[in-house]
Amino acid sequence: MLINLTPNAPVSELEAELKRLGVWSSRLLDSSGNVRSIALAPHSAAVAPETLAKLPGVSQVLASDSPHPLVDEHAGQAVRVGEVSFGEAAPVLVAGPCALDSESAVHGIAAMVAAAGGKMLRGGAFKPRSSPYAFAGHGRPALIWLAEAAHASGLMSVSEVMSEIEVEAVAKHVDMVQVGSRNMQNFALLRAVGCLKMPVLLKRGRAATVEEWLLAAEYLYASGASGVVFCERGVRGFDPQTRNLLDLGAVALLRHAYALPVVVDPSHAVGRRDLILPLARASIGAGACGLMVEVNPDPELASSDAPQAIGEALLAELGAVIRTSL
Ligand code: PEP
Ligand code: MN
Repeated sequence: MLINLTPNAPVSELEAELKRLGVWSSRLLDSSGNVRSIALAPHSAAVAPETLAKLPGVSQVLASDSPHPLVDEHAGQAVRVGEVSFGEAAPVLVAGPCALDSESAVHGIAAMVAAAGGKMLRGGAFKPRSSPYAFAGHGRPALIWLAEAAHASGLMSVSEVMSEIEVEAVAKHVDMVQVGSRNMQNFALLRAVGCLKMPVLLKRGRAATVEEWLLAAEYLYASGASGVVFCERGVRGFDPQTRNLLDLGAVALLRHAYALPVVVDPSHAVGRRDLILPLARASIGAGACGLMVEVNPDPELASSDAPQAIGEALLAELGAVIRTSL
């Protein structure tokens, strides 16, 4: 259960009341460090929502039994990133390089994405790599390349943030912040990203249950995120012939049972360019409100994830898949 507070609520007085009633509570802070809500532990004393509503400083009691009441509140709502809307009209195409390799390359890719009907440019400045010796992105300068290229081609931008230290730098340049698969349960990072009050693209952890994914989104909403778009990118499977195992059941579940906006990243799911298109079609069929793919004008030359990068022709075909899905 969650209690939202009025501005200037007497927090200590309210906490003392809750303690007296036998309820264990914890504070949820906003980016300025003010207490915006109080969470009530599910296993402490059961107190009627009507009683809680009468306590000092309480503006709203969210009395759901669900472990992710804030996510549930957003069911059926689209997530907006500027003019782009996830979960409303047409599925959104998000495309760009795996890593932002150079300023000139990013500009060319942005033009290619816009020409294919894409609405958002992706690209990593900070790359999570399994090996500490692999190319890990160009860092902060690459965020500026991304922002400028996106702007020049009339696109929104999204990039991954890997650590709390970089949260502000990434947020300064992008329209949407990406939390990657490996960090889906980095709770300190989730809180820091939520405090930005921005839209977030939340990738599913490679071995995360749907419930854990929803709870990660709850962290983001609890610390102030303006919207969360879920991104299914495949879970770890047992068969190395495809990079991961695309869980379209989870996509259908999120879209049709939870009414939440979910996009699919077929690139990381399958890991090979020849299978991106069929998986993209299947994803839209399962209810995805968008697709995120890795592109490169010269796919073989991509500095990371080259086997899954698609070139201009396949990207144009993907644009057509989205347009004809309406
Ligand atoms: C990415 O989208 O750049 C990425 C690293 O993906 P994931 O976190 O899904 O592995
Ligand atoms: Mn990649």
